[in-house]
Amino acid sequence: MSTPNKVCKDDASKSDVCVMSDVTDMLQQLSTADNEDSMSVCANCGKEGSDVTNSCNKCNQVKYCNAACKKKHRHKHKKHCEEYVRLAAENAAELHDIELFKQPPSQHGDCPICFIQLPALDSGRRYKTCCGKVICSGCTYAPVYDNQGNKLDIIKQNECAFCRAVAPKTNEEMIKREKIRVEANDAKAIYNQGIYYSDGIDGYPQDYVKALELYHRAAELGCANAYCSIGYAYDTGRRALEVDKKKANHYFELGAMKGSAMARYNLGIKEMNAGNVDRALKHYMIAVRSGHNNSLQTIQQLYSNGHATKDDYTKALQLYQDYLGEIKSKQRDEAAAADDQYCYY
Ligand SMILES: [Zn+2]
Ligand SMILES: [Zn+2]
Ligand SMILES: [Zn+2]
Ligand SMILES: [Zn+2]
Repeated sequence: MSTPNKVCKDDASKSDVCVMSDVTDMLQQLSTADNEDSMSVCANCGKEGSDVTNSCNKCNQVKYCNAACKKKHRHKHKKHCEEYVRLAAENAAELHDIELFKQPPSQHGDCPICFIQLPALDSGRRYKTCCGKVICSGCTYAPVYDNQGNKLDIIKQNECAFCRAVAPKTNEEMIKREKIRVEANDAKAIYNQGIYYSDGIDGYPQDYVKALELYHRAAELGCANAYCSIGYAYDTGRRALEVDKKKANHYFELGAMKGSAMARYNLGIKEMNAGNVDRALKHYMIAVRSGHNNSLQTIQQLYSNGHATKDDYTKALQLYQDYLGEIKSKQRDEAAAADDQYCYY
């Protein structure tokens, strides 16, 4: 943290970064106060040497030649030690919050055909089991033309708009393709298979253990919603797990930081229930910017019942407009107008 102090003083409401640099400075001062020169000097008797290795097990900032020196020095060191531990915890919590409240990148990325950001709404995109690509509603719907510019018949539209593979005709064929994608370590396919096992659908037996295993695998491969599903499992005790709210929170946070608006929304609800309206609003705003309509509706409700200000609601509307600016396209509008199944915001 190298933010100059001047910036902090000029700014009436200190930014997170400034608070951080203060805490870091204080930690540095505290840690150097106790060990000026070398780490191998006993803080009690001053003895120097490679055998001075017995460090304070609370702050790990001072060393002693033996347990007796450590014990003797304890009353002198206690205040410093406690202050250091307190600031370190504060530092860690602030660092965590800075990471947590960053706007994550779009979870779905861009459509590989039109290169416009994929919509957050499920109906705005299609996962293809042939090539593993996620294609936007506009490109899925768009008519296909031949080299001469003639519109091809409807059967051609059953082809994948990206790789031209023909869509599976039976459920068995679909499952077979999905299994190939799972073997190819496709996070999206692995996550979907997790859902099938969890719900016992699409020809898969209900198996919660298997579902969780797949969610973990998908999450590690970068599927943000998989973290959210693990969070749910711990939060509700479903899927053969004991309820563990702390773990649930941990997985919701991981999902939210990786771009799962659903995980973010859950964190908002949890903060709201705990009475932390400010933190809840921060989560909802980030989710709105990622295109999560429910979060926008929630902020509207909070505004109408007096928990959020008009400015909050205005800001949320603006963030949603910014999101729409990224995902709107003529082709997608045409698809949505032609068929509800291509509705994308
Ligand atoms: Zn000593
Ligand atoms: Zn200590
Ligand atoms: Zn597209
Ligand atoms: Zn394909």
